[in-house]
Amino acid sequence: MAYIAPRGTVDILPGKSEQWIKLEQLLRTISANYNVKEMRTPIFEHTELFNRAVGDTTDVVSKEMYTFEDKKGRSITLRPEGTAGIARSYVENKMYALPEKLQKVYYMGPMFRYERPQNGRQRQFHQYGVEMLGVESPYVDVECMLMAITVVEALGLKDVKLHLNSLGDEESRDAYRAALQEHFKDCLDDLCYDCKQRFEKNPLRILDCKVDKNHPAMKNAPKTIDYLSEKAKAHFTKVCELLDDLEVEYEIDTNLVRGLDYYSHTVFEIISDDPKLGAGATVGGGGRYNGLVEELGGPATPGVGFAFGMERLLIALGDEDQDEEGLDVYLMPLGAEAKDLAMQIMTMLRANGFTCDMDYCDRGLKGQFKSADRFNAHFSLILGESEVENEVVNIKCNHTREQNVVKLENIVEFIENHYEGGHEHE
Ligand code: AMP
Repeated sequence: MAYIAPRGTVDILPGKSEQWIKLEQLLRTISANYNVKEMRTPIFEHTELFNRAVGDTTDVVSKEMYTFEDKKGRSITLRPEGTAGIARSYVENKMYALPEKLQKVYYMGPMFRYERPQNGRQRQFHQYGVEMLGVESPYVDVECMLMAITVVEALGLKDVKLHLNSLGDEESRDAYRAALQEHFKDCLDDLCYDCKQRFEKNPLRILDCKVDKNHPAMKNAPKTIDYLSEKAKAHFTKVCELLDDLEVEYEIDTNLVRGLDYYSHTVFEIISDDPKLGAGATVGGGGRYNGLVEELGGPATPGVGFAFGMERLLIALGDEDQDEEGLDVYLMPLGAEAKDLAMQIMTMLRANGFTCDMDYCDRGLKGQFKSADRFNAHFSLILGESEVENEVVNIKCNHTREQNVVKLENIVEFIENHYEGGHEHE
């Protein structure tokens, strides 16, 4: 029986993992630049958390969760997104009581959704997300958006647009919900089964129905922006003014509602027409979620955040300039005794901070030189019978092709002195 990876999952092999590390490092650098700290929460949580936080009428919760019972019969779910876990942890660890009122955190890691795998859609995928909790200020909304833009700019993504909308506060959403019900009530029979449920429970979710998306009633549906309360309108106006002052380009997209229930006020998406991703690809999105922390049993705490799909960011990063780091030294023993000595030398070199590897396959010189080449080794350290006997090694610099016989006790000094272009090792 041949084992294959479960549908919708991907192995990240050596050769590709370097790109992931590069992306992760870039995201960590940007996070530090914005004074955002990393937070790591469990990959699985109690199912109830997602029902509550993300909302049980969303597609993510109603159709796409990996849910199972553990041995004690508890319902557990592999996290489909990152915000719920962060908000849960924020409450559980009483982060709202910390002296710094605005907590800015990021997370990075795998998420799980039972979706039909297709180009760019996986069942295990990765997200980088940022959450800013504790302060309700349009400045923080803008801080979040600036950060999201910094990410796509750092990746060199072209033709990027910031799409923006406001869902308003509770008051605005009540008025809007009523308007949507009024709008859809006459065509309810034409809509899918799910939409009929949504109509009663959460009419906003009708707008992101994948089945009914081309129904004429979708096109002229009421817009959230026309139902904003005075307070919500003021918040949104300030967000737009700040973006204008910073000369950040954006487009108000009145159809933008986002697929998760916890959003209020500002919602945004970063959409790219870069040919690398295909026209109109959503690279990431986010928004404000003022009710979420309270919903999870914490004190009323405003929050705003965003998440990027890392697979998409990786496509944006591309394969270019993959200057893979080479080894410092590749040790090439010839014969059993040489192998013993090679291992001793290699251990000593590693302890001195050099990256090393050696041949374990008892190959001839030709085969070993091929490996040195594949590993892009700066030096090849050749150990034959005569070298063992004379307590020396033959060091070849693979860049200059220069070869030298060096006494065992002088290896480190020799390598340090002959490192072309310098070596960071001190
Ligand atoms: P969401 O949490 O649904 O707002 O998604 C945020 C981002 O995560 C999206 O814009 C995608 O880039 C990415 N994403 C969501 N679902 C998947 C998936 N199944 N496979 C790959 N990327 C995904």
